[in-house]
Amino acid sequence: MKKNPFATPRIGEEVLPGVHLLGSRRVNFYVIEEGRSLTLIDCGFDGHLRYLEAWLERRGRRMSDIEAILLTHGHADHVGFAERLRATGVPVYLDAADAPFAMRPEGRQPPQRLRRSLWRPSVLGLFGEAVCDGVFSQPLLKEIQPLPRGTTLDIPGRPMVVPVPAHSAGSVAFRFPTRGALFTGDALMTRDPMLGGPDRALVFGESTALNQASLEALRHLTPYGDDALLPAHGEAWVQAGSVARAIEDAVIAV
Ligand SMILES: [Zn+2]
Repeated sequence: MKKNPFATPRIGEEVLPGVHLLGSRRVNFYVIEEGRSLTLIDCGFDGHLRYLEAWLERRGRRMSDIEAILLTHGHADHVGFAERLRATGVPVYLDAADAPFAMRPEGRQPPQRLRRSLWRPSVLGLFGEAVCDGVFSQPLLKEIQPLPRGTTLDIPGRPMVVPVPAHSAGSVAFRFPTRGALFTGDALMTRDPMLGGPDRALVFGESTALNQASLEALRHLTPYGDDALLPAHGEAWVQAGSVARAIEDAVIAV
């Protein structure tokens, strides 16, 4: 497998029965097994496709077993290789508010928070990982299936779409009711993808106002407090009640 000197790969630990954590230490994506069918939550960076390919081979599964891709939002570290699979017929679900961003080259530019802290070694590490894994050339999404807000998706596992707008206008969480699992994307993280540091519940947005809004948006997740927390950045917190604990302890990462 091609190596990225800036990345520590995650090879697909089964963090909950049938829920596999892939990507890298900084940027997560998940594969969910539902019988024979597979669903992806987020797609990391473009180069992270190799992590998925290695996992499929190890498990004796195929790319054609993937029935749907659910994107928690439209930022480049989540859209990753989604277009490559969409081009083969896999539907890519994304909130309509984030679609224009994910479909334009501007969507591949680093966020302000990263640009203003590039001098920090940890931030440079994320930038290096992103560049080596093709962030500036990853294929733009050409078509999406808009997510129905606040309802259940008719795909294996019947996930509920929970809008959590603030980190981006189209940020959502996905709740898989039979698993007690809440995939929160960047609406609620357990480690800062840019600055690293200790494991803790945190949020941030693209501006000071959106930082505060990100914290307030967590109220949309309170009905799912008993669930396991599966974020796009940081470790999966799988004890029951992790979501409630994270909402209570969440801080704004600045
Ligand atoms: Zn992210």
